Amino acid sequence: MTQLFSPTPWLQTDGWAAFPGLVHGFSRRLPDREEALATLAVRDLPLHTLKQVHGDDIITVTQRSPQPERPEADGLISEQTGVLLGIATADCVPVLMVAPSQHLTVAVHAGWRGTLQGIARRAVTMLVETWSVAPADIHVALGPSIGGCCYEVGPEVGEAIAQRWQIRSPSAWRPTGTKGLLDLREVNVAQLAEAGVPLAQIRTVGPCTFCDTTFASYRREGAGAGRQLSVIGWREH
Ligand SMILES: [Zn+2]
Repeated sequence: MTQLFSPTPWLQTDGWAAFPGLVHGFSRRLPDREEALATLAVRDLPLHTLKQVHGDDIITVTQRSPQPERPEADGLISEQTGVLLGIATADCVPVLMVAPSQHLTVAVHAGWRGTLQGIARRAVTMLVETWSVAPADIHVALGPSIGGCCYEVGPEVGEAIAQRWQIRSPSAWRPTGTKGLLDLREVNVAQLAEAGVPLAQIRTVGPCTFCDTTFASYRREGAGAGRQLSVIGWREH
């Protein structure tokens, strides 16, 4: 597979430059993680990543958390500056969240299993219940992932997600005979909106990873697909 790679591989979220000190980005396929992080000027921030297992566990990271330890989980939350949270994906949805007034950051991995379990919504619940964040203060960006144009799944997956999350939009789940087309990002938008995050603060960033070959796609390339990295953190004051 051709390794198409631009020197500045990071996609960013419209409007998030308004949060001084916030650093974030969604990469394209990464041949070299360190080199890419250097272009984002975050080498001074310790990067915390996970051994992602398609569950709904979300762990809290502090400056004292061992790094790199890569615990088994699919989400990271931090209330501290000076740490960088990272999620690796190749078709699944990387979800980044920020609650600027409290310097809270979240990075979540939501494939179909995580989406069915509602991991993005669970992150919002944690912010609300543990840190007393108002849902109206949460901003979310859903990064590049396989789209409803390309993500064919069986009805046991699509129907389960549609029923669990009351999805009625045909662009989110569209049965096509024996299978159907699922838009994971649209389902996650519905979960987040239901949790009270204003729709205007939920952004979709980047294209379908199956359509655009500058992104790694497990569906298109199989086990050797490589990964995108999505990161978020606050620089220290
Ligand atoms: Zn597509």
